[in-house]
Amino acid sequence: MNDPVFLAVKHDAPPPDRRGRPLRDLRISVTDRCNFRCTYCMPKEVYGNDHQFLEHKELLSFEEIARLARIFARKGAEKIRLTGGEPLVRRNLESLVEMLAQIPNVDLALTTNGTLLKKKARALWDAGLKRITVSLDALDDATFMKMNDVDFPVARVLDGIAEAAAVGFNPIKINMVVKRGANDNCILPMARHFRGSGQILRFIEYMDVGHTNGWRMEDVVTARQIVDMISADAPLAQADPNYRGEVAERWRYRDGSGEIGVVASVTQAFCRDCTRARLSTDGKLYTCLFATRGHDLKALLRGGASDHEISDRIDAIWRQREDRYSEIRTANTVAAQKIEMSYIGG
Ligand code: SAM
Ligand code: SF4
Ligand code: SF4
Repeated sequence: MNDPVFLAVKHDAPPPDRRGRPLRDLRISVTDRCNFRCTYCMPKEVYGNDHQFLEHKELLSFEEIARLARIFARKGAEKIRLTGGEPLVRRNLESLVEMLAQIPNVDLALTTNGTLLKKKARALWDAGLKRITVSLDALDDATFMKMNDVDFPVARVLDGIAEAAAVGFNPIKINMVVKRGANDNCILPMARHFRGSGQILRFIEYMDVGHTNGWRMEDVVTARQIVDMISADAPLAQADPNYRGEVAERWRYRDGSGEIGVVASVTQAFCRDCTRARLSTDGKLYTCLFATRGHDLKALLRGGASDHEISDRIDAIWRQREDRYSEIRTANTVAAQKIEMSYIGG
């Protein structure tokens, strides 16, 4: 690792992990609940009426999240992303945003399904959030409703995106998970819709997160196939990454009408540069999206540990990290009892 960015280590930073990777990003799942039942994430058969979500007392409070976020920031986390489940279903999320936005040198972002954005965009902006990603898998109601599985119409997500743009979010990133046979017919309509809008559409390869979505390699439309399909419609040229370790590969329209991204998490693993830690809704630290086990920080918080002690624990966990799931994916790992994305934070 002789990249200067990787060598610029913060004073309180944990030692690099076993593969030489620093800790740079933190994703925080603020709730394991969601108002969607996307078939690739929280299928209804598993997340039906009798599913046991976490009880409120098990969730980290906003104060606990903010305390951990400050510790992580001192340790070199430069980016914090709020996610879930659906983060905007957690009441008063803007109060948490306000606390986190005050942490110096942290780039704060949020990923949302956009359903509550029309109502919440202004409050989030005023609380200090400046970066937002909205997930949207189709532009026609029939496909979108089949994917969200709660009959939610596209127009209300588009209204949310429009409101976010009106209050100042710019650029807004749009995430589309592509699943063969489910919404691959929407790749071109989505690309055409967002081209020239200033919003950046990113196509995400369908992943085998958790163990409930019945993932099969045949259902993955590869990043390469997506780029080829769009480029045949409107020619693309590859663009340089914004920074080392950027997960989305950037492609610009040759006519200057904007850019798209592709996240090839399945076909071009980026574990080598993965600097991401995840904090689950109930305060466990995971060092990989595909982890099978987390490390309980809530017990430390509630057991009266000092910041210093928590910081030492994070160092010890990070030092042991050797995850590289996407590089070593096999039929056996796909079938393993991995943690669900809604809980660990997508
Ligand atoms: N509910 C919010 C949303 O949908 O934006 C935030 C949480 S969601 C788990 C975060 C991101 O993970 C979304 O963009 C979603 O599309 C993506 N995601 C969920 N399941 C996935 C899967 N099996 N493969 C690839 N991406 C997935
Ligand atoms: Fe909910 Fe997001 Fe998962 Fe869809 S992808 S079920 S919106 S958490
Ligand atoms: Fe990072 Fe794990 Fe994904 Fe690899 S599989 S990029 S280590 S989260």
